[in-house]
Amino acid sequence: MLIAIEGIDGSGKGTQAKLLLDRLLAANVSAALVSFPRYSLTHFGRTIGRFLNGEFGALNDVDPHLAATLYASDRFESKSFLLEQLQQFEVVICDRYVASNTAHQGAKRNGAERRALQDWIAQTEYGVFALPRADLTILLDLSAELAQSLIAKKAQRDYTDKKADIQEADVSYLSSVREVYLDVAAAEVNWQRVPVELDGQIRSIDDISHDIWRIVSLKRGS
Ligand code: ADP
Repeated sequence: MLIAIEGIDGSGKGTQAKLLLDRLLAANVSAALVSFPRYSLTHFGRTIGRFLNGEFGALNDVDPHLAATLYASDRFESKSFLLEQLQQFEVVICDRYVASNTAHQGAKRNGAERRALQDWIAQTEYGVFALPRADLTILLDLSAELAQSLIAKKAQRDYTDKKADIQEADVSYLSSVREVYLDVAAAEVNWQRVPVELDGQIRSIDDISHDIWRIVSLKRGS
């Protein structure tokens, strides 16, 4: 089973993906965690780091088809590794997967142009690169403003010397990405939205982890 954890930057994906892995292992379920992009591990991952550092220009200087190709190529370069993991483990958790591309690049266009771009990304990832589809996608849903307060808490990353990369620094962009994620979550089966905030307050890491565990247990039992 491939479980994707999705959400805007700072929504707690890394934290929750790790906790889900711990819970699965504690329940004697063989499981592994793979994080995308694989920044320092692949040729394209390293190039994504350069993109997020602003080396190729500002966020809107790079056509979203080209940005999407970098992210899809990072997965294509990781495909044999991912397929091996899926064979070896009962559950593989992906901290970000194809939907991150659909949401992040889709947010740079509107209406029919957005849909055409999202179709193009799906054709690239699932059609041309023949990547496996997620069995379950969990969307960690948080407002861009609160997500930024969590981004500020993040430890130094290896791909950027900035406190926040070019995407993370842009609240209106993060806000559009959130809207696109919510649209996709509403339209797709096998997606579950988990609220990260309640009445304007960020929920506890434990409460969120508990919700995710319930969803995953139900899915595994079905
Ligand atoms: P993402 O992977 O979505 O960018 P992270 O899991 O790296 O997000 O979380 C960003 C920061 O916020 C980290 O420092 C993490 O410890 C912290 N954090 C994550 N979830 C919560 C939460 N529910 N409450 C408080 N802090 C959190």
